[in-house]
Amino acid sequence: MVLRNKTFLVVCLACVLFLMIGAMSEAFYKSLNPLSLIGLIISFSVVSLGILYVVLAKQIEYPKEDHYEKLLTKQKVKVTDTDFFKYDQNKNKFYKFAHYDKFIALPNRVLFNEILNKSISHAKRHQKILAILLINIVPKNPADNPKEHIAKELGQLFSKVLRNEDVISKLNNNQFIVLLSDIKKPKFASVAAEKLLKICEKDIEVDHKKIPLNAHIGICIYPDDGASLEELIENAYLALHTAQKNHTTHHFQFYSESLDAEAHEYLSIEADLRNAIKNKELTLYYQPKLDIKTGKIVAVEALVRWMHPKLGMLYPDKFIPMAEDNGFIVKIGEWELLLACLTNKHWQEIGLEPVKVALNISAKQFYHPNITVSLVNALRATGLNPMYLELEITESTIMIDPIKAKEVSDNIKEIGVQISIDHFGLGYTSISHIKEFPIESVKIDQKFIKSIPHNEVDTALVGALITLGHSLGLKVVAEGVETIEQLQYLSSHECDIAQGYFLSYPVTANSVAEQFKKVSKKIVV
Ligand code: C2E
Ligand code: CA
Repeated sequence: MVLRNKTFLVVCLACVLFLMIGAMSEAFYKSLNPLSLIGLIISFSVVSLGILYVVLAKQIEYPKEDHYEKLLTKQKVKVTDTDFFKYDQNKNKFYKFAHYDKFIALPNRVLFNEILNKSISHAKRHQKILAILLINIVPKNPADNPKEHIAKELGQLFSKVLRNEDVISKLNNNQFIVLLSDIKKPKFASVAAEKLLKICEKDIEVDHKKIPLNAHIGICIYPDDGASLEELIENAYLALHTAQKNHTTHHFQFYSESLDAEAHEYLSIEADLRNAIKNKELTLYYQPKLDIKTGKIVAVEALVRWMHPKLGMLYPDKFIPMAEDNGFIVKIGEWELLLACLTNKHWQEIGLEPVKVALNISAKQFYHPNITVSLVNALRATGLNPMYLELEITESTIMIDPIKAKEVSDNIKEIGVQISIDHFGLGYTSISHIKEFPIESVKIDQKFIKSIPHNEVDTALVGALITLGHSLGLKVVAEGVETIEQLQYLSSHECDIAQGYFLSYPVTANSVAEQFKKVSKKIVV
């Protein structure tokens, strides 16, 4: 109020100052007594404070009341008396907005950390026990998108079962963190964990669709398991990872010092993976696929490798399942898609015989709503003809949601990109579905190829799978070919394409390009 009338204030103070100077000069003129001197000092102090106040008030540009209103309506957040509400003039934003998750109105990580730090100090002074619960939730079906809606629903349900003094914050669409302040005994944290897991056991209904979930919780106790915010959160992550590793679903795990080194390693690799693309540590190797009749390379499978600065070359089994769990696979996949298309286009531009490049697509990528957009963007950006791009998807990916999978596959086919079924033969139940799919080829799983010729059943099965693939009108690829006997068997059973260490290991882009120029001598069977 005073602030908004600051012009008036400035004028008043200027007048007082003027009068004071007049009075002072008169007092000096008539020689000063002690009482007048005290009066003068007090007057000077008041005037100086007034000037200081005006200068400060001038610097703070407080918005008008209706400005607050407009912002509130825009953000659709209802402010109640209990809301934490403060204006940040530097960011021209409300404190509330900067510290609350906009989508579900829970405190965000910044505010959570602030509260946790304060709670730690308070618990230290009053010998209280705190518990941190880190909850990880993933839909059982990766096709269940968008996840914000699931997170919103869960955030509300979780808040209802927690006590008023507990704090819950959304870290991302898969993770929440809870602070239980002042629990009587560490083991009581399990009561809250059980309540939270119970919520996740029931399917969540979003847009009239029931969504089954997988949930895990890592629990860490102050002061037993850590003294600082960082230590507590890191240990909660370790406990969470152990819960996920040992139990497929709905489990909580308390942190303990005996949690193995493997959990530490996992978390440190996961943290490094987030920077691996930016640091140019990921690369693609390519393994040729040869036409058994002609011996020519007709395609290459792109296989990711991670040149880790400390651990050396890491193979996909070390980090792809992790990337699938934390959703980072989508980013890696987009990067691979671009690089593979670019490399293949480059091979064509330098005059090499055109080949297809095949990429492994995991379920999270396949069911991601942006898959077709990513494909189109990569093809446009690189100028690669879609007929030279192939996606390898597994039968298990299709079986997650066959109807959705058919829709996605049709869209991919429409772009002109081909689809191959990887690990063919492992999921027998889906033959009826495969028949309906717009696919080009099936790739017999290497488990069966390895058994040729010593395991009669598997050997016969490979023959049957080749016949089955052909009867569906598809090309048949055999992967994991390691011996001449295997290749001879495949050749005699009219298998179309072979891939494996016997023909070539996965190698760098330059090395595989060298191989395109040569006709394989090994292939003559
Ligand atoms: P996959 O799709 O079955 O790939 C074939 C794997 O078998 C590759 O292992 C390859 O190096 C290996 N292999 C090829 N020929 C032979 C052989 O004759 N004998 C044996 N024993 N192995 C052979 P790699 O590169 O370690 O990849 C493992 C799995 O990781 C792949 O299995 C695939 O599921 C996944 N993967 C690899 N790269 C990517 C990627 O870029 N994105 C995604 N989403 N998954 C990938
Ligand atoms: Ca593959």
